[in-house]
Amino acid sequence: MQLDQALRDFDRDHLWHPYTSLTNPLPVYPVSSADGVMLTFDDGRQVIDGMASWWCVIHGYNHPHLNQAAKQQIDAMSHVMFGGLTHQPAIELGQKLVGMTAEPLEHVFLTDSGSISVEVALKMALQYWQGVGKPDKQRFLTVRGGYHGDTFGAMSVCDPVGGMHQLFQGMLPQQLFAPRPDITPGDSWSDDAISDFAELIDRYSDEIAAVILEPVVQGAGGMRFYHPNYLRKMRELCDRHDVLLIFDEIATGFGRTGKLFAYEHAEVTPDILCVGKAITGGYMTLAATIATDKVAKGVCSDDMVFMHGPTFMANPLACAVANASIELLLESPWQSRVQSIESHFNTALEPLRALDAVADVRSLGAIGVVEMKESLTVSAVQEALIDEGVWLRPFGKLLYAMPPYVMEQEQLHKVTDAMSRVVNRL
Ligand SMILES: *Cc1c(COP(=O)(O)O)cnc(C)c1O
Repeated sequence: MQLDQALRDFDRDHLWHPYTSLTNPLPVYPVSSADGVMLTFDDGRQVIDGMASWWCVIHGYNHPHLNQAAKQQIDAMSHVMFGGLTHQPAIELGQKLVGMTAEPLEHVFLTDSGSISVEVALKMALQYWQGVGKPDKQRFLTVRGGYHGDTFGAMSVCDPVGGMHQLFQGMLPQQLFAPRPDITPGDSWSDDAISDFAELIDRYSDEIAAVILEPVVQGAGGMRFYHPNYLRKMRELCDRHDVLLIFDEIATGFGRTGKLFAYEHAEVTPDILCVGKAITGGYMTLAATIATDKVAKGVCSDDMVFMHGPTFMANPLACAVANASIELLLESPWQSRVQSIESHFNTALEPLRALDAVADVRSLGAIGVVEMKESLTVSAVQEALIDEGVWLRPFGKLLYAMPPYVMEQEQLHKVTDAMSRVVNRL
């Protein structure tokens, strides 16, 4: 049923949407239901969701297995505080996360969103150095082009130009930025690619608590892919200079890049790992920060406690759905699904490279990106895509897709056909 005009007006006048103006908002499309890979708008139109609701919905919408897990957990308990109490859904999720991540990652802090899991990782690093008697190590080193969330600590390590630094100058801690890695996975490796980073870590290691970055794929900061050797070298440099390494896999975790976690492309292990987004298959918000034993022991030395504890920590409902989603993922042929999405993107998007308006085309795992030379007009491009029966959300110069892994070939073709037609018309 079509949404009442009064309700649409209220939305426009009173509700903020992500990164938009309240006085001059972009159009929004009312969704009445979602099933599989399809969104149904209130006017009856259906579109194929090529965004997986911002990386999250890896199994498709309205999945019977996830629905059942949620319903069962609601009947048992939706929430209890995690202070002084515990429950099976959290314990099971902890076991799964410890089991599926690299061996040294053993200690799980469950948080309510990705940004918060980044804050928790940064705080763990700071407390670690206090615990081991090097309290001057208080800054973070990262690379440009990153995105780690919208809270203050997270913002401070986002790209200083493309991110939100100008708006909050003076409020943000001053971190250290190396140039963004500009050696792609297909390039042949040269140590020059990491020389600026190496210089920074060498010069400032007495001040640096940790390096934080998104392994292999820089997501919201520009959808760029870089060479896994960068991470290998970075691990060596962190070890040599006594600096912790934090990987933010909130976007890349749970199979998106073709590996369960993107660090597997480089076979390196971070000291602290952040995961989120796809952890509940897109059902509700949940994230986790997973640390090694070394980090946990440092944080908790001298009777220190770790100073964080959100109200909805380890929400049982979210944990139960996360458990169901991880089971579903691990029992599914996700590697071959992601692989076939990647090969489809490679063949279907590659011809767009020849167009004058296109700067670059790239794909990795279930991520396909067309980078234009000029910024796209979001509202116009979005409307054109919807006319093609496809939901994508362009940003800046980027038109990109990261579909649910269960998307059928025919639907994938529709997504890339729509991308081609829209780009061809520009
Ligand atoms: C989305 C994202 C975050 C922030 O997660 P929220 O759940 O939106 O707070 C942090 N880091 C990366 C890499 C992300 O993609």
